[in-house]
Amino acid sequence: MTTIGFIGLGIMGAPMSVHLVKAGFTVNGFNRTAAKAAPLVEAGGRAAGSIADAVADADVVAVMVPDSPDVRAVLAGEGGVFENAKPGALIIDFSSIRPDVTKELAEQAHVNGLRMLDAPVSGGEAGARNAALSIMVGGAAEDFEAARPVFDAVGKTVVHVGPSGSGQTVKAANQLIVASNIQALAEAVVFLRAYGVDLEAALEVLGGGLAGSAVLTQKKGNMLENTFQPGFRIELHHKDLGIVTSAAREAGVVLPAGALVAQLMASALAVGDGGLDHSALLRGVERLSGTNT
Ligand code: NAP
Repeated sequence: MTTIGFIGLGIMGAPMSVHLVKAGFTVNGFNRTAAKAAPLVEAGGRAAGSIADAVADADVVAVMVPDSPDVRAVLAGEGGVFENAKPGALIIDFSSIRPDVTKELAEQAHVNGLRMLDAPVSGGEAGARNAALSIMVGGAAEDFEAARPVFDAVGKTVVHVGPSGSGQTVKAANQLIVASNIQALAEAVVFLRAYGVDLEAALEVLGGGLAGSAVLTQKKGNMLENTFQPGFRIELHHKDLGIVTSAAREAGVVLPAGALVAQLMASALAVGDGGLDHSALLRGVERLSGTNT
């Protein structure tokens, strides 16, 4: 498998496509806004003019777009992957979407003579830039094995977690943990500031104990400097917490902290912070505490 059609060259897709070129794959990338293909082209890949152009010769079709309707449009829409991919091509959907939509699209892929894995990722923009993503993969074991070289080029922890849709279920759990973690960190920051503690020193020592986390390591800079350029946008995390809360309801399980943090994320979106990095949950805690400036 040497030729990859890559659709969606945004914050995550662009650096991932660059790593695939560096690993020796031929990459034809398509992005709706053409300018975002620049890093891929600079690395030696080709900017395709359409989805059809990107996937015509592809053994693997990688997709990295925001939400369930976007993946549906890219795969099953007019001029999409199902209409244009080579028979037997393997679709790897790296996007974070609803598990039920993934399963339905994987069945449609099969009907169209294609194969599909759900392979959402974790590790943030830094993980994509450093080819150090965690990748949780759902689908057939033989397709997972076939896709290994692709995963190894962009990820560090790559695990086949079960049949189609399982990757998305694990990603939903990931987003529940990350959101709760950011909220707890944000509350700690507001608390520490209220006592005039040296915040940098406090976060350094907290990072070395049980309170340490990838969230603390990656997000403390934003919180120290009150800069929230994404990264991972609040609006995307809101989408993911919607997936978590509705899937939990369907399964009949109760996630009280998850429900609360989903509301706080919704509040951040409602007040206009949707385009900021999810570390901007800090701004919500500041609003509640009256310490926002
Ligand atoms: P992003 O920067 O917004 O990139 C999304 C890309 O998809 C854009 O280039 C966009 O094109 C394209 N796109 C959007 N809707 C489309 C459609 N209907 N048809 C075709 N192309 C479409 O988002 P991102 O941060 O890379 O996130 C992508 C996925 O990765 C999401 O599911 C997100 O939840 C997940 N994720 C993100 C992170 C992170 O830290 N950012 C971490 C883990 C997982 P335009 O340029 O034309 O808008």
